[in-house]
This record gives sequence, structure tokens and C-alpha cells, in this order.
Amino acid sequence: MLPIIEIVGSGVAGLCCAQAFVEKGCQVTLRSASNGIDESCCSWWAGGMLAPWCESESAEPLIFRLGQESLRYWQQHSQSMHSGGSLVLAHRRDQADIRQFAQRTTDYQELNRDQIGELEPDIDGRFDLGLHYPQEAHLNPRETLQALLDRLLASELFTAVFNERLDDQYLQSAPDGGWRIDCRGLAARDSLSDLRGVKGEMLILETAEITLSRPVRVLHPRHPIYIVPRSNDQFMVGATMIESDDRTHASARSVMELLSSAYALHPAFADAAIVQIGTDVRPAFTDNLPRLRRRGQLVYVNGLYRHGFLCAPAMAQRAVSLVLEGNIDEEVVDENHD
Ligand SMILES: Cc1cc2nc3c(=O)[nH]c(=O)nc-3n(C[C@H](O)[C@H](O)[C@H](O)COP(=O)(O)OP(=O)(O)OC[C@H]3O[C@@H](n4cnc5c(N)ncnc54)[C@H](O)[C@@H]3O)c2cc1C
Repeated sequence: MLPIIEIVGSGVAGLCCAQAFVEKGCQVTLRSASNGIDESCCSWWAGGMLAPWCESESAEPLIFRLGQESLRYWQQHSQSMHSGGSLVLAHRRDQADIRQFAQRTTDYQELNRDQIGELEPDIDGRFDLGLHYPQEAHLNPRETLQALLDRLLASELFTAVFNERLDDQYLQSAPDGGWRIDCRGLAARDSLSDLRGVKGEMLILETAEITLSRPVRVLHPRHPIYIVPRSNDQFMVGATMIESDDRTHASARSVMELLSSAYALHPAFADAAIVQIGTDVRPAFTDNLPRLRRRGQLVYVNGLYRHGFLCAPAMAQRAVSLVLEGNIDEEVVDENHD
């Protein structure tokens, strides 16, 4: 008989785990402090870049493998996914950075000034050298999470309880006869002592003066940014990476840096409306790699760092495999940690 599953948290980790267990035929109850899909979780603020090739410039090969697997999942599960690749650019003074980026990554096409213009006509003539990663994609995190939840709610196997903040005592033990999958993000720090926060600040700008068809990363030694196009002339501009767990506000310095980097990509951003300034804190372990940590019938899915959408579907599959088949993927499962 299949076990009963309780999931805690309705960010990308919780929803992907819920979907994975429901697909296997398990009865799943999801409990979350959030009010449905809302700004209370880190996942709400993500850019939604699905960029395993670009991320491999600085991340471990594990992220690349999980990312490729997750890309295939989102192709089937996200209607807002766009598969136009992503573009990496650098201003003339930072050409050495783009050469170095190219050396550390694979499966890109090097573009000259004219080819950049063919791909993204609105930035024609502004950059001499670019890298196009044609297999990458992006999605709108908010729409994607809502669609995942809607699909789950249509299943008889799924129940959701929102606006419920579970306390430490409750969370210490697994439900009777079943398993708990704890996907609380940074809030699980009370149980996972090596989890830390990495603050990210972002903006949503709106302008009809410029169109981009894919995410654009602009390399810079101090202020690298990316701009992800969304619908309704909106653009997500992100994101800072600061060792801090303060999610109370975005600093004036960070906002100025994000704005000036967007302006340097294209002056039309100077007249854009600032629709939103957001900040949240990415949950990360010391090596910035995601983990499944098991304690009895309790499994923590955490440490998604800057790769929540990139890795959550693949981590959810490993959680299912661990709980239902006892399979331990040693790259991600951490059995003997405190
Ligand atoms: C600015 C920014 C940009 C980013 N861009 C990207 C990107 O482009 N691509 C990418 O892959 N990743 C990106 N990320 C990273 C990504 O957002 C995170 O890795 C991901 O959101 C972590 O998801 P999670 O489900 O673990 O946590 P969360 O999304 O924080 O979800 C935690 C859930 O647990 C619930 N909860 C907490 N405590 C309790 C409790 N006691 N009881 C009940 N429920 C509880 C919360 O209410 C919430 O629903 C970005 C992050 C930031 C901040």
C-alpha cells in the first residue's frame, strides 16, 4: 500500500514534491503558512531562468544534471515556459569576462554585433560579442506555481491547507503511518543548522519601448545582472547575491545598481515604470548544493539556493524514489546528518 504523504510548504519545492507523489498515486496533504501562491515564499520572487549551461560557469556539475532533468519536466508542466535560449553579453571593457565565461561553459554559439542584432533587434549595435545558449529556457514563476497548484487541486488525491504555520514540536516527528516532506525553505533552519540565507533583490520594470525574446545576462565584475522578459511589457531585473537573511527591504544601493545596469543594457529602461521592488532570501547549504536530508520518515528537501526552479522537479523525483522505493541517490541524499 502506498504511504500517506504530508508536504510542508507551497514554494516550488513543496509543489513539485506534491505533484510527483500524486503522480505516483499517493494521497497528499500540503500544509503551508502561505496564503496560496503569494509573495510570502522565496519562489514568488525568482527570475524563472532555466539555464543549466550558463549556471555551469560557476556551479557544480550536479546542478547541470538536475537542471537538464528539470528542463524536461517544465516542458511538460509549465505553459508559461519559453524555449528561446538565453543570451550573455558584456560591455566592451568587460570582454575578458565573456571570454572566460565561454571557456567555462559549453553548447553556446558565439555571436558578433550583427548576429546579436538578428537575435534581439532592440539591442542591435550596442554589443560587439555575445554568447547564445539555444537550449536554455525561462518561465514565469508566479504563473507556473499557480498552474501547478490548480492542477493539484483538480486531483482527488490532493488536499491543501493554507495559512497554517506549523510549530517546531509538530514538525519534529513524521505523521502516524506516513511520511512528511519538509519544504519550508529558509524557515527550516531551526532543524537544519547548516542552512544559511543568501539575500536576493529584484525589480519588475514595465516599458513598451523595448522588446526582448529571451533572458539577457550582462556580465560585470561587480554588478552582473540578468533581465527576463515577461508578458505585458514587463521585465524582471535581478538579482543581487548578498550573504544575509534580512528579507525586510531592498537597499537603495542595490536598486540603484540594478537600475543602472538595466539602463546600460538599453537607455529605454530609464523611462520604464518601476512596478515592483522585491527581496527574499535563498535557502543554501554551505556548498550551495541542494539536499534531501532524511530523519526516519521525515525528509527535508532544501538548499535550492539560486536554483529553485532549475532543480526542484529533479529533487522531487529523488524524494519519491527515496520514499517509495528506498533508492538513495548519494549525490543528493544526506542520511546521517544531525
Ligand atoms: C531574487 C531571486 C531571484 C531568483 N531567481 C531564480 C531563477 O531565475 N531560477 C531559479 O531556479 N531560482 C531562482 N531563485 C531561487 C529560488 O527562488 C529558490 O531557490 C526557491 O524559491 C526556494 O524554494 P523553496 O520551495 O525551497 O522555498 P520557498 O519558496 O521559500 O517556500 C517555502 C514555503 O514554506 C512555507 N513555510 C515556511 N515555514 C512554514 C511553517 N512553519 N509551517 C508551514 N509552512 C511553512 C512558506 O509559507 C512557503 O510556502 C531566485 C531567488 C531570488 C530571491
